[in-house]
Amino acid sequence: MQFESEKKETIMLNPMQENKRRQIPSEIRKDPLTGRTARICHFMKLEWEKPDFEKLTAGTEKYCPFCPEKVMNITPLFPGEIIPEGRLILDDMVLFPNIAPYDCLSSVAVMGAKHYIPMTEIKPELIAKGFELAMMFFKILEKIKHPESVYHMVNWNYMPPSGSSIIHPHLQIFSTKSAPNLVRQELEAAKVYMEKNKSCFWDDLVKAETEKGERFLGKTGRTTWMTNYAPMGVAGDVLAVVEGVRSTLELTKEDIADLASGLAKAMAAYDKIGIYSFNMNFFTGAIQDDFARFHLLFSPRTFFNQALGTPDVGAGQKLFNETVCMAYPEEINKMLKPDFEK
Ligand SMILES: [Zn+2]
Repeated sequence: MQFESEKKETIMLNPMQENKRRQIPSEIRKDPLTGRTARICHFMKLEWEKPDFEKLTAGTEKYCPFCPEKVMNITPLFPGEIIPEGRLILDDMVLFPNIAPYDCLSSVAVMGAKHYIPMTEIKPELIAKGFELAMMFFKILEKIKHPESVYHMVNWNYMPPSGSSIIHPHLQIFSTKSAPNLVRQELEAAKVYMEKNKSCFWDDLVKAETEKGERFLGKTGRTTWMTNYAPMGVAGDVLAVVEGVRSTLELTKEDIADLASGLAKAMAAYDKIGIYSFNMNFFTGAIQDDFARFHLLFSPRTFFNQALGTPDVGAGQKLFNETVCMAYPEEINKMLKPDFEK
């Protein structure tokens, strides 16, 4: 397992200290699977001011399509050949077609009746139930042998900095034969890796990170948690890999409970530095992809300037797909670890 990086250094003079020379480090890291590069730089303190949530959320329930009095009346229904009941229901959670579909089978799952749930109050049971509802949907698609039942995805945008326009907690759940860019690139690279090394990249990664320890966060059941070597997020990200599971459909109830509890730990840890928003995506292979392992990525999101609404994604990430992380993932690991050891 190769963890490649290139360390760089910038020299500048400080006019307020008689032009004293200052050395500023930066680092370019290569994702060990895809070769995607990520920059570790800026090194600002990972600390953000949370907004006044009462003010932020006040009145948003009035226009919320996901609140209980509206969700069953205004959200669309699946046609009978896909879901005879139109929507899927699990206790107070409900899954229905995404009104703005980006693929043939895209849906939204509302995670319960409560309009606003602070990040630290998102319980593992709630996350697990949301994922169970997604699994119900995926299993139906598999049973009817839908041609788009290949890659089964759950994406989560929580709160506005993450790209969510609705406060009410919800998941984007879709199944597609067209793997999104990064999923496709990972699958192609993992296939090549297996042909070359006669082993699964993800098994080797878990082994290497567990032995190295500097990015390892913990293991629950078959799921290993770690900070990502070449992060996508400005405050790093948390990666979970499930042993022996190639595709979403192979996740057991226990795996889902383990994923949910780890995500709740990541939320608790990031809350301490003022993070209140995140993206979370499933990454999956197709059922026969022996080179793939189910993994998910949790990436905290923030505003660089809350008052101006400046997002944490600029030209570098948007147009070059070159990410910036403001601390070493090994330092971020130290910050997150106490919550994973609880
Ligand atoms: Zn609502």
